[in-house]
Amino acid sequence: MIAIPPETSRIAARARAADELAASGVETAALDARILVEEALGITATDLALRGSEPVGPAGAERLASYLARRAAGEPVARIIGAWEFWGLPFGLSPETLVPRPDTETLVEAALGLRPEGPHRLADLGTGSGCILVALLTEWPRAFGVGLDRSCGALRTARSNAARNGVADRAAFVAGDWAAALAGPFDVVVANPPYIASAVIAGLSGEVRDHDPRLALDGGPDGLDAYRTILAQVPRLLAPGGHLLVEIGYDQEEALCRLATAQGLSAQMRRDLAGHPRVVVMTATAG
Ligand code: GLN
Repeated sequence: MIAIPPETSRIAARARAADELAASGVETAALDARILVEEALGITATDLALRGSEPVGPAGAERLASYLARRAAGEPVARIIGAWEFWGLPFGLSPETLVPRPDTETLVEAALGLRPEGPHRLADLGTGSGCILVALLTEWPRAFGVGLDRSCGALRTARSNAARNGVADRAAFVAGDWAAALAGPFDVVVANPPYIASAVIAGLSGEVRDHDPRLALDGGPDGLDAYRTILAQVPRLLAPGGHLLVEIGYDQEEALCRLATAQGLSAQMRRDLAGHPRVVVMTATAG
């Protein structure tokens, strides 16, 4: 483990941390070093900038050394600090929740674009950390939302994230398997379900494979199990004219459009910032 003398200044510790992480092959060494120093010392970015010459102290030095060792061994920063940002909002994480991905903001944007004024009833299937539901509830101040998840640990995390972001009075969290546990209809249903084919999981990067919950990744033999289950519930789940928005893998657009058409839904694809197909928006025709 890297030894950091307690008298090291905050700024020097940050530089040292960035060097150590870069030497271990971490691509985002400078950013990771800054976040880990702030977390280890319990200080903000402003503290680091304005009071950078203060020493890290014995407890801070010890914590930072342990964080750096974990990061160098491949643990994602979000797991080390147990939190991550999504849609500009803070989210706590637990071992049962996926780390929110920037790609998933494509889904939030697509939903906001469909219903700028906001729906009354919103459901998030496989809510995990609650990031999608909470982000939408902050944007739609009159909407009421239900987050569903199979994992009770994830539901606890989602509930606390709703409180932390001031939407707890408009969010309910329910334990259950996909939509089977929910009574519809909803105006908007969103889901970022597990969509990776089981056989592919072993080949994912270690940061995902070894640190994200398998339940959040594994979409069955062809990656489409969750979509099939969700779409089978659509007739009772979606209000007339309602929308179902799901995140997809970059190569799942065709499969999803086929499944949607089989349920009598119209389907449209949205791309993420990298230009990959990322979200399918399905609409129940009224009547
Ligand atoms: N809805 C959560 C998210 O987008 C969880 C998704 C999942 O676990 N597959 O982060």
